[in-house]
Amino acid sequence: MALASLIQGTKAAMVVPFTLVNEIAEAATAAGGAQGAAGNGAVEGQKPSGPPSLAFWQNRSISLVDMYLDQGDPSEKCGELNFGLEYDFATQTLKLKINQGRDLKACDANGLSDPYVRVTLLPDKKHRLETKIKRRTLNPRWNETFFFEGFPINKLQSRVLHLHCYDYDRFSKDDSIGEIHLPLCQVDFTAKPTYWRPLYPPVKMKLGELLVSLTYLPAKNTLTIGVLKARNLKAKDINGKSDPYVKVWLMFGEKRVEKKKTPIYKCNLNPIFNASFEFDVPWEQIRDCALQVQVMDFDTVGRNELIGKLLLQSKNGSGPSETKQWQDMIAKPRQSIVVWHRLKPGD
Ligand code: CA
Ligand code: CA
Repeated sequence: MALASLIQGTKAAMVVPFTLVNEIAEAATAAGGAQGAAGNGAVEGQKPSGPPSLAFWQNRSISLVDMYLDQGDPSEKCGELNFGLEYDFATQTLKLKINQGRDLKACDANGLSDPYVRVTLLPDKKHRLETKIKRRTLNPRWNETFFFEGFPINKLQSRVLHLHCYDYDRFSKDDSIGEIHLPLCQVDFTAKPTYWRPLYPPVKMKLGELLVSLTYLPAKNTLTIGVLKARNLKAKDINGKSDPYVKVWLMFGEKRVEKKKTPIYKCNLNPIFNASFEFDVPWEQIRDCALQVQVMDFDTVGRNELIGKLLLQSKNGSGPSETKQWQDMIAKPRQSIVVWHRLKPGD
């Protein structure tokens, strides 16, 4: 059992009002230049603690919540965690119980992991707590309880619970299995909730996602890939944007056979390509070939850079959803199989 008292480091002046996420967002929209008015709106019915610190905290909450809310459904399965939250209003203590994990991603050569969970209450990254390491399992049971003392409810609601699950490795750096971000302003503490939440690939590695369709027409021997759209692409340029385009290679083993390309979409992190490319592939060879998809950033000066890539094939694609899409395409000829994939880093 670990004990944490995280009251230090936060000045008493930084009081966050009881505010729901969308109210914070509204306050931010209203703020656009008229800080005073937005501040009044946001603290209605609350005791304001002075505009500067309030604005600071609102901005802080917005960026934290924005960062972690829109995660969609993880295309890469990392497993799930089961945990419970309880808040004692009398002692101002948050109780977190980490119960178990399910179907965690295997990180070791033996097809298993040695999972443990690291806990922080963001934005504070300094104080971290960890569960015990469970050896050689993808379905660990921790049943460990953590206490966060000295947290008035309004302070707690400005925090984001961060659970980061790692695979312990004796001789190398621990691998990240996945993470969960739960903004505590979304939690109804009177309900003492228990959650099963999916783990997401680490935020730092986020390159964006690509929506791809695959269709095979046996009568025509054609493999068609639809490069439909991308979302949340990583920014490569100093203006905070990228100039994306997509290259698709038909591969046989290591050999690149044929290339197709979309146009360039300038200054856009969520481009809609709606491009479709056909390749001649006989049915007998559909299990032997692959499509390598590269999302690139065009640069006027210097070499174009890779944002992220996918390898679509019937075995050992760049991720489980890539392999499954290819298998579904084979199993259902003439049907379009449409899947969002999380882009993978280059070598
Ligand atoms: Ca390990
Ligand atoms: Ca660029």
